[in-house]
Amino acid sequence: MLDARLVKKSHPEHHTIVQLSNQVAIGGSNVIVIGGPCTVENAAQMEQVASQLAVAPIHALRGGVYKPRTSPYSFQGMGVEGLQILAEARSRYGMPVVTEVMSIAQIELVATYADMLQIGSRNMQNFELLKALGQAGKPVLLKRGLSATIEEFVMAAEYIMAHGNPSVVLCERGIRSFDTYTRNVLDLGAVVALRQLTHLPVIVDPSHAAGKRELVADLARAAVACGADGLIIECHPEPDKSVSDARQALSLEAMVALVHSLEPIARAVGRTLTKDQGAKTKQLAAV
Ligand code: PEP
Ligand code: MN
Repeated sequence: MLDARLVKKSHPEHHTIVQLSNQVAIGGSNVIVIGGPCTVENAAQMEQVASQLAVAPIHALRGGVYKPRTSPYSFQGMGVEGLQILAEARSRYGMPVVTEVMSIAQIELVATYADMLQIGSRNMQNFELLKALGQAGKPVLLKRGLSATIEEFVMAAEYIMAHGNPSVVLCERGIRSFDTYTRNVLDLGAVVALRQLTHLPVIVDPSHAAGKRELVADLARAAVACGADGLIIECHPEPDKSVSDARQALSLEAMVALVHSLEPIARAVGRTLTKDQGAKTKQLAAV
């Protein structure tokens, strides 16, 4: 491993806890779930999402307002209007929000609305952006690059920490391979390795890995079983009508059922999965 000075685990009990809000922390004994649509589409959509997810053991909301689309002709996101919609859902339901920043110019604005800044796969090695996040004053959710090695992923996190931001959460979201049946290959080996190599929380995005909604629940359960500190999952009130990533979107009902199915798995690996974050300051016992 290269000189990963700051992200490297110094002893087996070395775990960083990243605080998203007073109630929500990632990296403790409680497994954290982040849910919401790929893209924020309108206020009614986010209201429906937040009201249904808020009553389940789901801790934070997601929704893109600056979208990295493969085609320049696809919807690029609602921008600041979308940030206002996220902030409204956040204050009504007391759930922190996570959204993507694609450029240095967006950091300041997004940081005034969001609780965590997502760096998408396509920007994992945008080193100037990573450096700027050092001073963002908000936790960063760093997604693994489409074809990034574990070492490159770890070093991208090192950039953010080396520039002054200690609150980084790693996200395994699948990597490119030859198979087109799944969108990407979910690398659970990387989840295990990252949790051994680094003290940072590691979460899993089974939605972008699978690309198909019928694969998401089993992959989510496997992620919790292998020690992931949390999950980020796409869901939508009308999945087939999602403006982006419709094929992988869960219904809100399926999302809530999935999260309940994770509870016994979390317990089996010495974790909890509760809405109540009394567990937030409890350090994770060595397993
Ligand atoms: C997303 O979270 O909607 C997204 C674009 O993810 P990724 O960067 O992992 O492709
Ligand atoms: Mn998406």
